[in-house]
Parts: sequence; C-alpha cells; structure tokens
Amino acid sequence: MASPTRVDLDGNQIKPITICMIGAGGFIGSHLCEKILSETQHTILAVDVYNDKVKHLLEPAGLPWADRIRFHRVNIKHDSRLEGLIKMADLTINLAAICTPADYNTRPLDTIYSNFIDALPVVKYCSENGKRLIHFSTCEVYGKTIGSFLPKDHPLRQDPSFYVLKEDASPCIFGPIEKQRWSYACAKQLIERLIYAEGAENGLEFTIVRPFNWIGPRMDFIPGVDGPSEGVPRVLACFSNNLLRREPLKLVDGGQSQRTFVYIKDAIEAVLLMIENPARANGHIFNVGNPNNEVTVKQLAEMMTQVYANVSGEPSLEEPTIDVSSKEFYGEGYDDSDKRIPDMTIINKQLGWNPKTSLWDLLESTLTYQHRTYAEAVKQATAKPVAS
Ligand code: NAD
Ligand code: UDP
Repeated sequence: MASPTRVDLDGNQIKPITICMIGAGGFIGSHLCEKILSETQHTILAVDVYNDKVKHLLEPAGLPWADRIRFHRVNIKHDSRLEGLIKMADLTINLAAICTPADYNTRPLDTIYSNFIDALPVVKYCSENGKRLIHFSTCEVYGKTIGSFLPKDHPLRQDPSFYVLKEDASPCIFGPIEKQRWSYACAKQLIERLIYAEGAENGLEFTIVRPFNWIGPRMDFIPGVDGPSEGVPRVLACFSNNLLRREPLKLVDGGQSQRTFVYIKDAIEAVLLMIENPARANGHIFNVGNPNNEVTVKQLAEMMTQVYANVSGEPSLEEPTIDVSSKEFYGEGYDDSDKRIPDMTIINKQLGWNPKTSLWDLLESTLTYQHRTYAEAVKQATAKPVAS
C-alpha cells in the first residue's frame, strides 16, 4: 500500500512528483508503473505507442490510482506533444528503445535512430527546461571484456580486473563496424556521452542506468501468440517459447557466453531509490544487476528446462538443447558479449541497493507466470485441425 509519509535515504520526507515515463508500456516500464502506483503517491504521464502491458493499471475505471496515471499514445519520433509532457513533469524517465539483439544486425538503422537520434529531443527538452532525466542505457556499452582477448587458458582471465565491469573504470570494447551487432551499444554509448556533456556544460541533472539482463514476467513476447511468428525476442522469451512448444532450446554458438540475470522486481527497487533520492543519484551512472547470478547460456537453458518441468508437471525432452550457429540464428553481422559481471560499488555506496533473488527463485516465479499465461494459447496455436 502507498504509505502517506515516505522518507528518503537521508530521512527527509518525499514529496509526490509527476513523472513523464517514456516507454512506460514496455517490460521495465510496466513494472515501474506498478511499483510507483502501488507504493508511492507520485503521478505518471505514461508515454508509449503500445499499452497492452499496462492495461491492468489503466482499466477498469475506479482503480485506487486512477487519478495518478494517464496514458499518452505518442511516438516520440514525431509528436509535438513530447515537449509539453516533459514540461508538465518534474522528472522524465526514458526507456524507449529498440533493444532486442535480433534487430541490431538486421535493422541497424532503426536501432541507431531509436537509441540515439530519437533520444536527442528528450535530452534537449530536459536540459532546456531544467528538468531531471533518468535515462536507460545498457550494460552492453561495455561490449567485450578485456580478458576475452587473452588466450583461453591464460591465468589473467581469472583476475576480476580483466572481466568485472566498473562504471568509472572499464573501457567500452566493440567489434568492427561490419559486426553490426554493436550498432545498439555504440548508439547507447553516444547518448550517454551527450547526456554527460549536457550535465557538465549546461547543468542537466541526470542519472544513467545500465541494466544487466533484467528478466521476469511480461518480458518481450511469445512468437505466434502475442508477437510475430518469425520474431526473435531476448533469451528468456526464446527459451520460454521452446519450452511451451516442447522444442529443444537453441544454443547460439554452443551457449558459451556468460550472463548475470537479475529479477525485475529487485531491479525496480533500485530505480525507485534513484527516483526518490535525487541528491544521491544525480550525476551518476549505475550498473544494475546481480553479480551472484552468473551462468553460461547453456547452464541457463538447463536450469530453465528443470524449473519448467517442475512448474508445468511435464517431463523434459530427452534432448533438451540443440546447438545453432549465430549466423543461422541471427544472420550476418552478429557478435556477442562474452561475459557481464557488474561491479556494485557505486550503487551500493550511493543508494545502499543490493539484489536479493537467486536465479533459481526468479526462474521459478517467471516460468510459473509464462506457463499460466501462455500454455493454453500455445496448445491452441499448435493444435492440428481435426479431419472431418
Ligand atoms: P521494451 O522493448 O519492453 O520497452 C521499450 C518500450 O519503448 C516499448 O514499449 C516500446 O513500444 C517503447 N518505444 C520504443 N520506441 C518508441 C517511440 N518512438 N515512441 C514511444 N515509445 C517507444 O524494453 P525493456 O526491456 O523494457 O527496456 C527498456 C530500456 O532499458 C531500453 O532503453 C533498453 O535499451 C534498456 N535495457 C533493458 C535491459 C533489460 O534487461 N530488459 C537491458 C539493457 C538495457
Ligand atoms: N541466445 C541463445 N538462444 C536463444 C536466444 C539467445 O543462445 O534462443 C543467447 C545469445 O546469443 C546471447 C544470450 O543468449 O549470448 C543472451 O541473449 P539476449 O537476447 O537475452 O540478449 P543479450 O544478453 O545478448 O543482450
């Protein structure tokens, strides 16, 4: 329940504010809206081209927070209402982006426009109108680790300074231009630099968030159910789709890349701390991830297979995974981040935030949701018509 007297980390009372949330209809936006509406008194101007994932917060009429959220169907590429909405708010949070790897090498222009060009007016309006900005970047700005350039069995690969990613120290290492995978990371890096420069030269109050594989319910779509049949979402939805259809999970290039996964509900706590503690968050770039939840993609597939068998009651396949080449799966120009472990020093010091949920637990609640939400629809979509 929304507590009437919320205090910040320094014991000061938090005044309700108005937040312009761009991309509010997406995965992260929908969880952030839920959290803000149920636990605070802040008001949300929710901006997106879609609202399916926040429909439950907008309807039916008479919801307890009905006067604190308004949905604005606005495409920020070309809508003159954007500046007015930013001016009406105390804080803008920009989540809007094309952010699925399958798009980075196949739609590099859309990716660069979405992640850099379309974000420019948002930064400009915030800067010109003296409004605070929380901008969503990505852990992918780090690119590859320094350690990945060492021979496979080199002892320095075990040294954390060769792979742990630190906001104020690690370099950003991308592949060559023809590896168009890096179009996203490069666009995100340039908008980070622009925001940082607006802060330095024009006094923009900003916070930059670098999410490290946030996962949970409502992430992306299940192809052929609530998204295009040929669409390729991020790994959680790809593997969920395979499990729902009783197909082997596809391991790109053997699934040797490593990731750390954080539960969306833990990560949203960090964002709320940023919103409500501007003096501690302004001027900072924050890694938000769970360094304790590291697995290879192959291990993730094995774990998801086990968890899904438990939650669905269906035995797993005899051969639960299959290897595919990245060229076959993503096409020409794909490349990968080898390993992503976030350093937590800055977010710990500034906001005292720590993730709580283990990978097993977050997969259990997420796959329970996937099964409940999609199993019947997938069954119907795959059912063979009965011969008459
Ligand atoms: P998402 O695709 O679910 O949400 C993005 C939302 O932005 C969508 O609802 C989309 O409709 C909206 N949008 C895109 N272009 C728009 C436009 N022109 N006008 C209005 N709305 C537009 O993605 P998400 O996972 O919620 O990610 C949100 C942000 O976090 C993105 O900036 C992404 O790059 C970043 N991020 C997320 C993760 C993660 O783990 N989920 C990791 C790294 C970075
Ligand atoms: N991946 C995979 N099979 C799939 C989907 C993704 O092996 O069906 C791999 C992908 O190559 C990458 C990792 O899983 O190494 C994570 O992919 P995701 O799309 O979640 O995004 P990323 O973490 O690369 O930004």
